[in-house]
Amino acid sequence: MREFDYIIIGGGCAGLSLAYELDLHKKLEDKTLAIIEPRDEYKKDKTWSFWKVINHNFDDCVKKSWKNFSINSPKGTKHLQCDNYPYQSIDSELFYKKTITKLKENKNVSFFKNIKDINQNNSFIFNSVPSLENNKNNLWQHFCGVEIKTKENIFDDSIINLMDFDCEQKESVHFFYTLPFQKNRALIETTWLSKMNDSSLRDYDNQIKNYIEQNLKIKNYEIVYKEKGAIPLFYPANIKEKNKINIGTAGGMTRLSTGYTFLNIQEHSKYIRMNIENIQNVKNFEIEKKYHLLDKIFLKVLEKHPEKMPDIFFKMFNNSPNTIIKFLSNKSNLFEDLSIIFKMPKWIFIKALLKL
Ligand SMILES: Cc1cc2nc3c(=O)[nH]c(=O)nc-3n(C[C@H](O)[C@H](O)[C@H](O)COP(=O)(O)OP(=O)(O)OC[C@H]3O[C@@H](n4cnc5c(N)ncnc54)[C@H](O)[C@@H]3O)c2cc1C
Repeated sequence: MREFDYIIIGGGCAGLSLAYELDLHKKLEDKTLAIIEPRDEYKKDKTWSFWKVINHNFDDCVKKSWKNFSINSPKGTKHLQCDNYPYQSIDSELFYKKTITKLKENKNVSFFKNIKDINQNNSFIFNSVPSLENNKNNLWQHFCGVEIKTKENIFDDSIINLMDFDCEQKESVHFFYTLPFQKNRALIETTWLSKMNDSSLRDYDNQIKNYIEQNLKIKNYEIVYKEKGAIPLFYPANIKEKNKINIGTAGGMTRLSTGYTFLNIQEHSKYIRMNIENIQNVKNFEIEKKYHLLDKIFLKVLEKHPEKMPDIFFKMFNNSPNTIIKFLSNKSNLFEDLSIIFKMPKWIFIKALLKL
């Protein structure tokens, strides 16, 4: 059986980002890499969006970039600008095409469907398949989105709606998210922050239909793409092993309060690439510890007081857009953290902190 210097388990976002980063920086010229990915074909399955707070390798896969966003609740609408950190959406189809085309040109990179097809005893393994069993009692961000095409030009494609809380809440946190790619095309997602034990929350098709037809008052439209998913708002088991590092969601790259993962994956890939020659001995890369604590408190409040969350998010957005964006993208300084914390309702957060 063939042996490789490195094995990446899972050729999804984290696996391909890492392989691409290693290839781009010529770390695979005299090292071999096997990528294990069971899917038969790659097609568009996700839209990765984030505020661009750092540079990354995939600007040419950006479907659209915006400099304005809004938050909506039954109490009103807030409009904010993000000139310094545009909000970008990456089309996974372009990402898969770009990374796989480049990797297939490298004779040291091989693709396999099953880890059993190779000998893994002497390799260093990067694993992106999380172990998520028995986690029904944890919080998830679960969602479904459709990209619709309308007959008329009805969307303002210069602004995204990041959160619209003016919808059914059902003892959970629920909002809609609208990304207008063109004046007649938009991705509209229904998003829940909840445990996975209430199946009625997953009646996504009806929720989306009602929102499009009743809230947005759109009658003539066609669904051209659909995506569905669940992001764990807890860290999967991530034990450091001598010859193995977990990456992606499995490696704790999801920011628990937001679900944002894509840019953390890019930073992790860069960290691994910079330390690849000494990878067995380097410290585990993780999202800064202060965000672990702040997100834990935030999720405790969310679990206990879901009905207060629209108001809490609305208050958070009373800060300057740069402060909020940096905070939500784990790039804030202490002064910015405090500015966010002081806008929060004190007692329920203190009580949540005491119960940790
Ligand atoms: C629909 C969706 C939309 C998202 N949108 C955003 C967003 O807008 N912004 C953001 O920052 N984050 C977003 N996320 C969160 C996160 O960025 C993505 O989940 C991202 O794909 C995580 O990368 P990953 O490599 O950890 O997992 P994946 O991309 O899921 O890759 C894991 C790979 O492992 C493969 N695999 C599965 N089982 C095995 C096995 N036994 N052996 C080998 N391979 C296996 C899978 O086929 C897959 O290709 C989204 C998540 C989802 C599900």
